[in-house]
This record gives sequence, C-alpha cells and structure tokens, in this order.
Amino acid sequence: MTSTVLMQVVEGLSRGTLKVVDLTAPLGPATPVIGLPPMFAPSPGLTMEAISRYDAKGPAWYWNTIRLGEHTGTHFDAPIHWITGKDLPDNACDTIPVRRLVGPACVIDVTADVASNPDFLLTPARIDEWEAAHGRIAAGAWLLLRTGWSKRTDAKAFVNAAADGPHSPGFDPRASRMLAHDRDVVGVGVETIGTDAGQAGTFDPPFPNHTIMHGAGKFGLASLCNLDQLPPTGSIVIAAPLKIVGGSGSPLRVIAIAPA
Ligand code: MN
Repeated sequence: MTSTVLMQVVEGLSRGTLKVVDLTAPLGPATPVIGLPPMFAPSPGLTMEAISRYDAKGPAWYWNTIRLGEHTGTHFDAPIHWITGKDLPDNACDTIPVRRLVGPACVIDVTADVASNPDFLLTPARIDEWEAAHGRIAAGAWLLLRTGWSKRTDAKAFVNAAADGPHSPGFDPRASRMLAHDRDVVGVGVETIGTDAGQAGTFDPPFPNHTIMHGAGKFGLASLCNLDQLPPTGSIVIAAPLKIVGGSGSPLRVIAIAPA
C-alpha cells in the first residue's frame, strides 16, 4: 500500500472536506475534579505558578510549574488505574502500545434521555438499537457516549452533587460487559467527570465500568466535549496520554478527524 490514503487525508483537511475536532475541555485551576466519599483521598485539581515571566527570574522566557492529579479535566484512564487491571501487561501510560491510541469512533447519542434523567445508564438494548441503524461496533473502536453533559460549563452543574452523591449518566454494567467482551472496544469516552455514572459507587460491583473495562485491558476517556460535532460513525479519534512512567492516567488533548 502506498501513502495515497494519508495524502488524501491531508488533502481533505486542506480542502475542508475533513475537519479536526477538539474533544478536549480547557484545563486550568477552575477545572472540577471528581468528588469521593470523605474516607477516600481526594485528587487535587490543577495549581499553576510561574517560574518566570520575562522578569528577573528569566528575562526572556515564560514558563510555569503545574501540579495536578493524573485524572484532572479531559483525561485518559489506563488499565492500571483499577485493581482489576493492575497485573495486565502494558497497562500503564508509558507501556501501552501507541497503535491502541488511534481508532474509529462510534458515537451513541443519548442526549435526550439524559436531559430528562441525569442518572441515565446506557443499556445493551440501546447499543443493539444503535447497531441496527449504524452497524456493529468494530473491535478496536472507541465507544463515545454523547450525553450533552459538557454543555454544563458551570462546575457545580457539571459535578451535580446532591446529599446522596453526584448524579450524572454512565453505563449499565451489562453494557460495559457487552462493549468490553463481546465488542472488544479499545475503550469508552464520556462527557462526564469519570467513566462511571455519578451514583456508581452504590452499584454492584461499585464503579462497574472501571471494574469491567480496566479488567479487560480497556481504556477510558473522561470530560470530553464537542461530541455533537462527530457523526455516529466515520471519524477517527487520536487519544495519546503523556508517557508518565507507571502512570495510571493523564490529562491529554483528544482530537478527532471527521467528515466536515
Ligand atoms: Mn479517571
């Protein structure tokens, strides 16, 4: 095979028949982090301080020190993030083969369901319904759950915490098993703060999507945005975490190449 297909991609981007879509939210001190019950250690949000800014500490240059939890903002979950994936081969940010970081996207739109029920869970029946319209989810595809949640730009509305914990959409455990084992997706991506539903700490098992996906060596992408700019099929997602040695995850820039 020649490089014709890659040249066609470049031409498509130049001519505007293809577009690059940024699926990444801005990352800063205001970026919300996941809330856990108080007996668990919290993850710090991002703090940033200037090392120098064209001043006595560095007259011609500007740079910052940043500190943040690996799972802050738009970020990648590696299999080692969860106890079920801790002994798998190539399970950390630095050892995942790069081939696995590029794949086709299957986008399931449940925005209307979530608008009326923030605790909406994707079920196998909804996946069947999507496949009847768009074809079977291919092995190695990213399953992206379009919920509209990224439109909640207010941090409080995004986290949506109540007295009984956060309320946000996610996956029915049966759907996670179907996607990981029967469809062999590379991972799932969501618009919410994590790949499990807000109430998933109360599920059996707790946080089933993390438990099932990472136990099967699959990845997660959280806090995605602009999924409404992707077709149900036909786009490619590139999601490459920082090569943190032994890293459980990392903030990243997620981009898609899609028909314009
Ligand atoms: Mn995470």
